[in-house]
Amino acid sequence: MNMKTLPDFWFEPLAWIDGQWHPGGETVTVRNPATGEKIAEVSRADAAVVTLAIEGAVKAQRTWREVSAVERGMVLKRTAALLLARKDEFARLLTAEQGKPYSQAAGEVEYAASFFQWFGEEARRVYGRIAAHPEAGREFFIEHKPAGVAGLITPWNFPLAQGAKKVAAALAAGCSAVWKPAELTPLIALAIGPLMRQAGLPDGVLQIVPGRGSVVGALLAEHPAVRVLSLTGSTATGSALMVAAAPGIKRLSLELGGNAPFIVLPDADLDFVAEQLMRLKLFVSGQVCVTANRVFVHADAEAALAEKLAEKIRAARLGNGLAEGIEAGPLIHRQACREIGELVEQAVAAGAEIVAENRSYEGDATLREGSFFPPTLLVGVNEWRPLKAEIPFGGIKHSGIGGEEGLREFLETQVISMPKSILAS
Ligand code: ADP
Repeated sequence: MNMKTLPDFWFEPLAWIDGQWHPGGETVTVRNPATGEKIAEVSRADAAVVTLAIEGAVKAQRTWREVSAVERGMVLKRTAALLLARKDEFARLLTAEQGKPYSQAAGEVEYAASFFQWFGEEARRVYGRIAAHPEAGREFFIEHKPAGVAGLITPWNFPLAQGAKKVAAALAAGCSAVWKPAELTPLIALAIGPLMRQAGLPDGVLQIVPGRGSVVGALLAEHPAVRVLSLTGSTATGSALMVAAAPGIKRLSLELGGNAPFIVLPDADLDFVAEQLMRLKLFVSGQVCVTANRVFVHADAEAALAEKLAEKIRAARLGNGLAEGIEAGPLIHRQACREIGELVEQAVAAGAEIVAENRSYEGDATLREGSFFPPTLLVGVNEWRPLKAEIPFGGIKHSGIGGEEGLREFLETQVISMPKSILAS
């Protein structure tokens, strides 16, 4: 079988601070979830390292906010171009540490680049306005200023794209940022540090600190210089971060878990539905916050759809995402397999029937240490992937707050009451 190899990358498994690699305290092993093989031993940022990163970001912010919006945008657009030029290497690393098939990883690299491109373009479109003043001879100038240092916390399902979305928006707004990637997938984030330096980003504007969520999150929340906290993660983590950020009255952008229904009406084209639903469920092995969590099928369509889905599940090509033609990889770790196994057991105990499953990976000895779970069709019973840089991405209730307007999350609005005579002069 034609197997892609890990790229020789140009990063160290250390924190990226002020344009240099910085060792921390203890380390954590990053493994390939398909094979269990060790990829790297990454140093976890401790309190001293995180503080150093924040202090460097404070310093860098003073000059970055003064860089013209056009130049800030150019750095981001150059990052997009560099990322696309190295798409293959980034995709291979992403597959190795996250598990998703190479084709999906390559798609994520393009998606990440689209954020750098989009926010690179948006940087110069932060318009203020002039409003009427109740006193004659004066005007209000309403401007949007960079909020300060941003703390960015990202998950492991889209380790590159989620980071790109936050980093690009924060930097476009004129903020500097401290990025804490997920512990399971820090390598792709670390690779962005030197890439952005190559794109012309001044040192210190983007600091990357792998580490424990609770430790680094708390330090970011506590430090008075960090003014915005942007998290994509679980609802429990969002709630914990909100509590930690409350004393400092920090701005929060929380993109948390989703719970999307997928509704099939009786007159639907069932071949199209089956194809879309399977792509959606196999995409990142179902580990996507906007995936379909529940499928509601009209009784008249149920039997025919179940048959089509069963056929597709049995035929899906599972395995190591670095191998050619793979449609679904492993779950992120063994614990996730145990949790999904429990959900299946509960559903069966509650009366659901296992209609189809696919254990084809079991014959491959190289995957024995991987964290695979059979795609399983149980069921008592638009476009498949609404992910684009251009669209708002928000949530209701427990799915989070903020996030929907990208750049605005990182800007403060300032009003200046100004005599008209200054305008005329
Ligand atoms: P998931 O279910 O996607 O793993 P988590 O919320 O556990 O979601 O993780 C998302 C990100 O939040 C990761 O980078 C993780 O390290 C970080 N994180 C976990 N706990 C905390 C916390 N208490 N404060 C801040 N960040 C945290």
